[in-house]
Amino acid sequence: MLYRHPSYYPTFHCLGGACPDTCCRDWDIVLDEETVADYQTAPAPMASHLVRSLTTDEDGDTCFRLNDRGFCAMLAEDGLCSIQKEWGAEHLCQHCAAYPRFIEEYGALTESSLALSCPEVARLLLESPAFVVEESNNGHPNKPFPDIPPELMSSLELSRKKALDVMAQDRYTVWERIHGVLLLAYSVQEDLDRLDYSRAGIHCVPMQPLSASLQAKPFAQDLLRFFSSLEPLRPSWPQRLRRCHDGLDAMCPEEYSLLCRRFEAQFPQWQHHLTNLMSYLIFRHWHKTVNDDQLYARVAWIACSGILLYHLFLMQWKEDHILRLPDEIAICCAFSREVEHMEENLELALDTCSVLSPASIYYPLT
Ligand code: SF4
Repeated sequence: MLYRHPSYYPTFHCLGGACPDTCCRDWDIVLDEETVADYQTAPAPMASHLVRSLTTDEDGDTCFRLNDRGFCAMLAEDGLCSIQKEWGAEHLCQHCAAYPRFIEEYGALTESSLALSCPEVARLLLESPAFVVEESNNGHPNKPFPDIPPELMSSLELSRKKALDVMAQDRYTVWERIHGVLLLAYSVQEDLDRLDYSRAGIHCVPMQPLSASLQAKPFAQDLLRFFSSLEPLRPSWPQRLRRCHDGLDAMCPEEYSLLCRRFEAQFPQWQHHLTNLMSYLIFRHWHKTVNDDQLYARVAWIACSGILLYHLFLMQWKEDHILRLPDEIAICCAFSREVEHMEENLELALDTCSVLSPASIYYPLT
């Protein structure tokens, strides 16, 4: 059995009460059956706290009640979970015990990753010298992967490896790299559509020079309008997107180009950070193609997400004349929380991006 995870995975430690945000906010956490049964046996003070803090959602599932500020009713004043603090971590429900760790099983392959919606994970990812995937094999026999053609899995394995290798090649700009990955995904998708899984892994990444286009700013504004139209978890996210949109709107093409040049010169780590972010998205989402054969939609969404994040960083830098790491982290977490974790939003984003051809995605080249 093969196991993989990003190299920073083992170094993660929850910040607890020192977290600049908290994962105990805004989510509807549905309790698993074992936890519901466990909570019937809670000791006296905890039992009454739990009774007050649990509710039933519209599907009839038991979940934690959120207060009027969106915080979990079990979250104490010090930012720590009362269940963990007063009763023990072994009594956390499966969601809370696992977050921000995510495990995906693909038959013989198990991949673990950390959700970008957690500020400490975002810091680890942004500050990693490179996005590196570590692999180990425990020698145990492989598990079957029912209903998934082995040729599909091996073509995804081969093509994602090529995509991550290209993302690591800094002789190309980050936009040339993601555009090459997008062209690769386009070719693989044509084979997937013909159910020709054996061809899908053979393509090389076609690297092409990109030229600046007057369409880059209006394209970014289209993206900002689209993402701000999705159902938000927190109102601050569409507000940020609209501010960014309006800020771009107020600039003529020359001012926009000059702003991008100044930002890139004064914040040279922008390419490295975007490379890590898009590599994380490639690692985490590429293999989900096994569920629906939609690889191109995912990669087009990743390219568009890179363009979206670039402009959010750019406008934050314009506002403050500096881009501080906590602000960069907050933007990444909000993006992940509002798009990556919101199933309906992600589906809409994939549908919308799937109709964009590689030639109709415009990068902010200066
Ligand atoms: S968001 Fe991350 S660092 Fe913050 S409390 Fe949750 S797991 Fe810990």
